[in-house]
Amino acid sequence: MLECTAKNEDHRNKVALQIRQHISKRGHEQNIIITPSMARYWWKKLNIAVFNGLLRPPKRIYALKWVGDVDTYGECDPQYDRHMKRYVNIRLKESMETRKLFLTILVHEMVHQWEWETLEKTSHHKHFYMWKDTIRRMIDLPLAKLVDDVIDD
Ligand SMILES: [Zn+2]
Repeated sequence: MLECTAKNEDHRNKVALQIRQHISKRGHEQNIIITPSMARYWWKKLNIAVFNGLLRPPKRIYALKWVGDVDTYGECDPQYDRHMKRYVNIRLKESMETRKLFLTILVHEMVHQWEWETLEKTSHHKHFYMWKDTIRRMIDLPLAKLVDDVIDD
């Protein structure tokens, strides 16, 4: 059991390092086009590195020209299935300024997903921000309510 936990932790750290290296190598790339399969690829890595594999895969991940308002980059849509089991769909803007911003937005929506799956609500309050330190420590990304507050991080 202990050995198993240590192995998980080892894997988690390895994936977190992969993400950090990806961000330092390619995070600055500009005018990124997001696809659902690309988002799902990074969702899986972020789930391991940040949430220790706790989140359930979203039913759908969309990459859209518009997500609600002009300045909305992402949305986590909380839902119940017909057995009242909670799940989410994630919607992302299909073009983002940088690759780093894409990962920043995706992990933000994943914090909302965690809130929904764990607490049955979403917010930008204390349960949201309690992930800020973990996200900084594991993958060195910011967590904030507004895009303007993360774009120059
Ligand atoms: Zn939010």
